[in-house]
Amino acid sequence: RNLGRTAIVSNKQIYSYDILLTAADAITSELSKKLRNPASRAKVAITDGPERPPRVGLYAAPGPEYLAATWAVWQAGGIVVPLATSHPQPELSYVCQDAGVSAVLTLPDQEARLGPIAHEHGAALQLLEPLSGSSTSSSDGSSSCVGDSQETEAAVEAVAADLRDLSASSTSGALIIYTSGTTGKPKGVLHTHRSLHAQVYALASAWRWRPSDRLLHCLPLHHIHGIVNALYCPSAVGASVEFLPKFAPAAVWQRIQSGDISVFMGVPTMYSYLLSHYDTQAAASPERAAAMRGAAAALRLTVSGSSACPLPTQNRWRELSGDLLLERYGMTEIGMALSNPYKGERRPGSVGTPLPGVEARIAPDGQLLVRGPNVFSEYWGRPAATSEAFDADGFFLTGDTSSTSGSPPYFTIEGRTSVDIIKSSGYKISALQIESVVLEHPGIAEVAVLGVPDETFGEVVTALVAAKPQTAGVGPEAGRAARPEVGELQRFCRDRMAPYQVPKRWQWVSALPRNAMGKVNKKELLKMLQAGQL
Ligand code: ATP
Ligand code: MG
Repeated sequence: RNLGRTAIVSNKQIYSYDILLTAADAITSELSKKLRNPASRAKVAITDGPERPPRVGLYAAPGPEYLAATWAVWQAGGIVVPLATSHPQPELSYVCQDAGVSAVLTLPDQEARLGPIAHEHGAALQLLEPLSGSSTSSSDGSSSCVGDSQETEAAVEAVAADLRDLSASSTSGALIIYTSGTTGKPKGVLHTHRSLHAQVYALASAWRWRPSDRLLHCLPLHHIHGIVNALYCPSAVGASVEFLPKFAPAAVWQRIQSGDISVFMGVPTMYSYLLSHYDTQAAASPERAAAMRGAAAALRLTVSGSSACPLPTQNRWRELSGDLLLERYGMTEIGMALSNPYKGERRPGSVGTPLPGVEARIAPDGQLLVRGPNVFSEYWGRPAATSEAFDADGFFLTGDTSSTSGSPPYFTIEGRTSVDIIKSSGYKISALQIESVVLEHPGIAEVAVLGVPDETFGEVVTALVAAKPQTAGVGPEAGRAARPEVGELQRFCRDRMAPYQVPKRWQWVSALPRNAMGKVNKKELLKMLQAGQL
């Protein structure tokens, strides 16, 4: 409605919705020509019927061009395939091949990198013109008031109400996102305009998105968290997104303390880095610490997800900011499905209740099942995997084990059925619960609990642990990891969990290997452990 509003802030420049829409129109007309050109459709024509829109790879650093290009692909009738800027060439090639892209959009500084890949797959390369915005110092009026005060409750209600009707949204493909590859080769997940609309509506209404919001964005754009929750959702309600080129705790704190930001979304490891940075600052200056606490408390919405948020992180964030992080649960295939409430009781260790429009149930074997307009339509090019992923009632099988408690029932994620549910001596043990307890030990920085196959026990509960560096003190010991004794760790666990849950084996590591979303690949870790590579 007010196209002069700020859509994107990037590199100290402001870009209005107006500027992005104009840029999108220009990209669309060039792209439409390219997509009509039979030379660039060579691969598409063989496998695709008329109902298969062309796929367009998008490879760009976070910035205004990303949103403009996304709209352009949609205006040209295509499906956006985000390509990860952090991925090496073979992975980019895998995605281009798997999705069958017929065009690739990128910025001029990436021409040398993307040109050969586009060529290899018979796709047209289109260079996006870098946009220029206005300087953040010349205020456009929308940066002065973020978050809470500007809109009335009724106005916030109206934002969500405007998005409620999904019927006008097309059921043709809009986005193919590849899963994180935590449990296997990443799979392309096709979302339609309607399933994206359903996700955006659910979040706008549950988290009370409003046009005056500004989200500080430092998540990768090739995963659902970074692209749907943190980019499409704010732009659907006319809010703004400020990109940080990469996550760095000091830079995030600096922006939070500016007072310009109302929403932050991160994976749990980001919050633990933010907490460590706070500790360092607090040790140096109580005044600085007080200012940081004030800034964190002033954020309207602080969301954690992508993997389980450990209880110590939740508790420490509550001490710091006065409120728990809003933990939610989602997947590439379903967008967000469960969420703690924006207002009302948030339960640490729980992911809350189903979002608007989402049905969630737990199968007799403990697996979480999800159905609703938010759910994807297919694994791209994998019809067998698609049909295996749904039960007879059309519920998607998440592969995660869950339980509920209380009334209304809040869901708790016990972990991935394949790697986090350990079967030992006849017990079913949640690795995530044990990890949460071990992390409460003051000497532990990171932990991954695995079930290692064993003749006697079936699986043995095994903890891979990294020690916390000592922050205090001077001299040779400062900064060096001080490992607690294993006996001490076992006593610590015995006081806090059932005997069969206490890890029998402990293995020290300097740090846990994590992917772009801060996730640990436990299948890989198990292989490394068994091969003596840790
Ligand atoms: P792949 O499917 O390729 O193995 P992936 O499942 O990690 O990768 P995503 O779709 O990005 O790819 O991640 C979804 C998974 O993340 C969920 O199935 C769940 O295991 C985990 N997850 C997300 N949010 C939470 C949460 N709040 N608590 C626990 N687990 C979570
Ligand atoms: Mg998955």
